[in-house]
Amino acid sequence: MPDPLSPNVQYLKGSETVAISNETKRRRAAGEDVLDLSVGEPDFDTPAPVAQAGIQAIQKGMTRYPPNIGLADLRAAIARRLSLLSGGRPVNADNIVVSSGSKQSIFNACFTLFGPTDQVLIPSPAWVSYPQIVHLCRAEPVLVPGSLEWGLKVSARDLDRASSKRTRGLIICSPCNPTGSVYTASELKAIAEWARKNDVWVIADEIYRAINYGTGPAASFLDLPDEYLERTVVIYGASKAYAMTGWRIGAALAPAHLAKAMGALQSHTTTGANHPAQWAAATAFADDRVDAEVEKMTGAFRRRRDHLVDRFRTEAPGVEFVEPHGAFYFFFRVDGIREADPLTGSRFCEQLMQQEGVALVPGAAFGDDRWVRLSYAVSDKELEHALDRILRFTKALASARAA
Ligand code: PMP
Repeated sequence: MPDPLSPNVQYLKGSETVAISNETKRRRAAGEDVLDLSVGEPDFDTPAPVAQAGIQAIQKGMTRYPPNIGLADLRAAIARRLSLLSGGRPVNADNIVVSSGSKQSIFNACFTLFGPTDQVLIPSPAWVSYPQIVHLCRAEPVLVPGSLEWGLKVSARDLDRASSKRTRGLIICSPCNPTGSVYTASELKAIAEWARKNDVWVIADEIYRAINYGTGPAASFLDLPDEYLERTVVIYGASKAYAMTGWRIGAALAPAHLAKAMGALQSHTTTGANHPAQWAAATAFADDRVDAEVEKMTGAFRRRRDHLVDRFRTEAPGVEFVEPHGAFYFFFRVDGIREADPLTGSRFCEQLMQQEGVALVPGAAFGDDRWVRLSYAVSDKELEHALDRILRFTKALASARAA
């Protein structure tokens, strides 16, 4: 018997989405015809001026340890960007901590805020890592199911019902992975009011904020007056809007004392994010030429979203889905497709992979296995082929029901 591991990792599971993506790569390497719509990363290359800035940073010798909490230029560029996204509201760069991806920013925030006996509310379905990160802090994740008629979002009332004396935090994601739902400004305000009244810390994961299909960026906690932000951490990053997943740059904007603690935590863990990548990210957030690239990519996601929703509506009329308003995910429900012998999301994905060679992510990864997540951050051609296969598969399932 191997030595038992620490209770720190008693709930730890590897990320399901990473596992599916690895399995898909393995199948492809073995020569199988597999279309991968499981990954949450843009199919675009990092914009050229950003890549150039990274190359130049290496050539200029920016290869030593970086400042632990991030380069001053990068933190200023993020502050300016967040300010622009929220109509010019002041954003203090001193309160920004740069990390190795926003995943680490979320971890830092949770680890410095939550501990044993604390409960952290997580609207569900939720991104795979939130409950795991809360467990790593030895706190308890409490999943709060969203309402179907409301794009699987939660209301302040839902949060109130799920809360207890031990509730210390809320992790909320908008635009949401895995549903593509986007909270409106008034919904966020109601939630912020509830959190303030109950002394609950809000970790607002706004990594997809720029990928929004309404007008302008998605509503944000940063659109609210200062008094709502005393217990709020806003998470942002370079990965999604700037097609920079591999550079690993994320950021947290937090009240000063918390930013300081997150910096100290990071000084003992990573020593700060990759130095040349920080220079590249500073260009992404600051250089106006890059804005046009972001718009182009968001335009492509919007076009694919429209097309995909249209095809599902016409070719799979009985299949329920969440209308996506942001991010690049489509969340559809599979348990009703074959009524006689309902399929779980996991079985649906397994059979779809075997029969049609398409990789999607079962809703189980996000807390509800009646659903399946599709990422449309793939080329138009790949999306079209994948839709042909998925819709053929769902039609076959539906006719098995009728038989
Ligand atoms: N939050 C959400 C909701 C995500 O989907 C992801 C990436 N899949 C992250 C955070 C982490 O992104 P990164 O660490 O690349 O910044």
